[in-house]
This record gives sequence, C-alpha cells and structure tokens, in this order.
Amino acid sequence: MAYKVLYRKYRPDSFSKIIGQKSIVETLQNSVKNNNFSHAYIFTGPRGTGKTSTAKVFAKAINCENPNNGEACNQCGNCKNFSTSPDIIEIDAASNNGVDEIRELRNNITLAPTSSKYKVYIIDEVHMLSPGAFNALLKTLEEPPEHAIFILATTEVYKVPITILSRCQRYDFKKISKDEMIEHLKYVCSEENIEFEDNALDEIYYLSDGCLRDALSILDQTSKLSRKVTLDCLLREYNIISNKKIEDLLNYLKNGNIESIVKELNDLEDTGINAQKLIKRMINYFEEIAINIKLCKEKSISYDIIRKLIEGLNDCYVDARINENVYSMIKLNFLNLCGSKNNAISNTISQRDNRPIKTTNSGKMTFTDIRINNCFVEVNKESLSEIQKKWTEILNEKINAVSFSDYKPVAASNKYIIFATDEESLAELFNMKAEDIERRLKEFNFETRVVAISNSKWLEEKELFKRNIKEKVKYEYIDEPIKTDENSSIKGKVNEIFEDKMVEIS
Ligand SMILES: [Zn+2]
Repeated sequence: MAYKVLYRKYRPDSFSKIIGQKSIVETLQNSVKNNNFSHAYIFTGPRGTGKTSTAKVFAKAINCENPNNGEACNQCGNCKNFSTSPDIIEIDAASNNGVDEIRELRNNITLAPTSSKYKVYIIDEVHMLSPGAFNALLKTLEEPPEHAIFILATTEVYKVPITILSRCQRYDFKKISKDEMIEHLKYVCSEENIEFEDNALDEIYYLSDGCLRDALSILDQTSKLSRKVTLDCLLREYNIISNKKIEDLLNYLKNGNIESIVKELNDLEDTGINAQKLIKRMINYFEEIAINIKLCKEKSISYDIIRKLIEGLNDCYVDARINENVYSMIKLNFLNLCGSKNNAISNTISQRDNRPIKTTNSGKMTFTDIRINNCFVEVNKESLSEIQKKWTEILNEKINAVSFSDYKPVAASNKYIIFATDEESLAELFNMKAEDIERRLKEFNFETRVVAISNSKWLEEKELFKRNIKEKVKYEYIDEPIKTDENSSIKGKVNEIFEDKMVEIS
C-alpha cells in the first residue's frame, strides 16, 4: 500500500476528530441535528487549523440521510459516495483567480442536486478570487437557491469584500493549543508506533506554531530520520535554537555575563539560524517567563527587564525584514539590559580603560560608586579589623539621626571604609551625613572617608570585587566630584534646619 503522509492519513472525517475547535464544532453539529442551515458560511483563521477539513465534515453531515447526533452516519449512499458526489463542489481560489469556476457555478447553481438534498460549494482560499469572480459570487449569494449552501474558507478574511462577509455566518478558527496538539501527536505516535521524547513533542508544537498540518509533517519527517523522535534530532534537522539555549542566555543576562551573551549569539549566527525564527522563539519563551513573574512562579528576574527584552526583540523582528544586521540588533538588545546591577558592565568598562567602575545606567558614577571603587584600590584586612575593634567602642555614638549601631564596617583601606546596613534609606541617610561622621571618626583616630550601602548591594559589590580580582582587573582611584557652592550652601541650610529640629526633638 502506498505511504500516506500523516496529515492526510489523520485528516478528520468526523466532527469528533476535529482538534481544538470545540465551540465551532458544537454549533455546526447542532445545526445538523436541528436541520437548520444558513446559505453561506465563512471559516477564517490561520492555516492548518482545520478549516477545510471542517468544511468537508460539515458538508458530509449536511447531506447525510441518517445523521446521528449531528455526525454523518458514514453508511448511507450520500456518505459512501461523498468524495465523488457531483453535489459537493470544491473550488480552490488559490490555483487560479476563479472567474471561470464562479461563472460555471452561476450557470449550474440553479440545477437541482443529483442525489442529495443540498449542493454544497466549498471555496478554499476565497480571498484569492479576482474582483470579477467576487462580483459574480456576490450576485449568487444575494439570491441563492434553496438547495445551495456555500462554505468559504480563508486565512485572510480582511481581503474578502464586506458585501460577501455580511451574507455569511462567520466562524473564527483558533490556533491549536499546546495541550490539544500534544495530545493529538501522542495519539498519532501510538497509532504509528513512533517512539518519542516528551520534550520533542513540545518542540514540534513550537515549530508548528499551532498549525496541526505542519506539526504532523514535522513528526512524519523526523520519524523517518531516526528510530526515535528526539529533541536533538529536531534541532539538527530544523536548524533551530533550543529552549535550553534561550534559558542560558537569560541566565547570562541575569548575571550580567556579557562575554557569554556575545559568544552564544555569535555561535547562533554562525550556525545560520534564521534570525526571525530565533526572535520569535525567544519572544515566546520570555512571554512565558513574564506570565510566571506575574503569577509569582518566577522571582529571579524583574518583570520590567523581561518586558523591555520582549519589546526590543519585537523591534528586531520588524527590522529583520529590512535590516541585514539583525544579530547585531539582538545582541544590543541584550547588552542594553545588562544594567547597573550587573557585574559584567564593570568588566567591559575595565577592559576599555582599565578601571573597574560600577556605573549607573546613564554612565555617570554616583558618590557611592566612586567611594566603593576607591576603597577597593587599597582594601586590606588590617584596616578592617582596626575599625571593627574600635567600632564596638563607638557603637553607641549618634550623629543627629544616624545611629552608629545600624551600620557595620565590611571593607576598609587606610583611606576609605565601607559600611553595610539593612535598608537602602539608612544608607542614604548615612551618606548625607558622611562629613559629620568622618569628623567624629577623626576623634577616634580614623582619618578616613566613609560610605554606606545596603546589605544586598554589598553582596553584589563583593561578588564584583571577587570577579575583578580573578580577572586581574586593576582598581584605580577616581576623583570625587567637587560640590558646587550652590549645592553645598543649600545642603548646609537644609542641614541646619533639620539638625535644629532634631536636637529639639531629642
Ligand atoms: Zn450518512
């Protein structure tokens, strides 16, 4: 027996076998049950979602002499002769512009059906009809004979004139959902004795983009290549990126690992993966992450970063049609999001000008960034243990609102000390009063500059420092910005006001 490709073999021949269009199937089945038909239907939706198959199943049920619960009986004469019945007229508007067919249709439509109750016209890809053919069709639809039923199918309903649409009952076919498709693929695999890996079926779903016909073709093709349908096999055959690789990219982004991002994307470009396919895949993947963040299932990255990533990739996708350097755009999109929280930002800057700078997004260094950097230039254990010892003595000190007990020295050189504290706001308060605190420390023989950061920021800074040491990045002093007179006088005034008040309160 000749080999029949899977999508033909598993083309549904009854309503119960149509995958994923539950409400449409129910409505059509009911109209068969009630023997209540419209003269014209239009089935619209993406390719491979079952429009033509449903049209045929429906046409068969319409003419069945003995339908059972809205399904064709497959026993009666009409059912048995369905595929050769002269009362079922199929027109493929894609193969030509349809003028001759529609003219013929108009000439013959008034003739009664030969053996069935209805003449059913199935016009596939109806949007391809020429304007002349549409006009002819419209005239027919305006006054159809009692025995005629039209089922029009299209992937591009907006190209169908409104005058036609307004005379049709419209059904919108949806893409097949992941669960529905995978269930069906598993069924086909078991019928065909095809071995498979579960993640390979997931992959087939992504590749087919909800088009069942494509999914079955991929399954068909891959099952012929190897004994078992595996993810590896699919990735090789279809030259696509695995979700694992996208996950890796996301992890590099989280860690600010620019080198790995660039390497990974260069590798992908070298393997010749189509950029648009890649972007689409990434967007699908990140969309799931975004949903999981909102559902609190994913907490390792912010929603904002994922949103920006998707928006940027979407721009890349649009650009891909006119831009030859799509991979560069994708890279930039990732690099742009390696923000101030990320270690690798510092590494790239340090490679450029040999300075391990932790920058803010705007590229400007803040007071805190500069002092942390400067502390690391000559950071040493001795300086830290000195201040740690002394700190227990001066813990009970208080300068205005700043309670020393809220802060813990975590790193020191003989010129700078970094303090860590629980809250970002406490760190800000400390830094506002840095000069006063330094003056007080001087009384305890510490002639140093101070800076405070939150505990979480300190953890990041420590990791960055370790990495820089490992990569032999040299720290150099950075000049602190000189305060403008205007700023300091305003600050002075504000401080005066607050200090007075705080004294009063305490
Ligand atoms: Zn029948």
